[in-house]
Amino acid sequence: MQAEPGTKDHTDSTRAEFQQTIMAAFCNALRTTPLPPITVLELVAMALGSVYQEVAEAHRGDNPCPCGWQPDPGADVEALQAALAAMVPSPQVTDLRLMQALGRA
Ligand SMILES: [Zn+2]
Repeated sequence: MQAEPGTKDHTDSTRAEFQQTIMAAFCNALRTTPLPPITVLELVAMALGSVYQEVAEAHRGDNPCPCGWQPDPGADVEALQAALAAMVPSPQVTDLRLMQALGRA
C-alpha cells in the first residue's frame, strides 16, 4: 500500500464499502443456501483469490496494465493473509473466561 496524502481516507472508505458489499452477499448466501457461515466465508476468501489471480494476469504478459504494479504471488498472498488475520481478534480474546474477566475489569 502506498502512503500518499489522502490515501488513508481512500483506504478507509474503500474498506467500508467492501465490508458492506461482502456482508450483504454473505447474509444473502446464508439466507438462500444451507451452507454454514464458515463455508460461506471460505467462498468469500476463494473469490478474493480469484480476483487476485485475474488482476495479477492483467499485470503480466505482452500488454500489461500501465500502472506499474508487479504481482508477486508469494509476498502478495502473505500480505493478504496478514490483512485477514489483523482484522480477527486473537484466540485468547475470544476465550469466554477471558472475555468475562475483561468485562469485569
Ligand atoms: Zn495496474
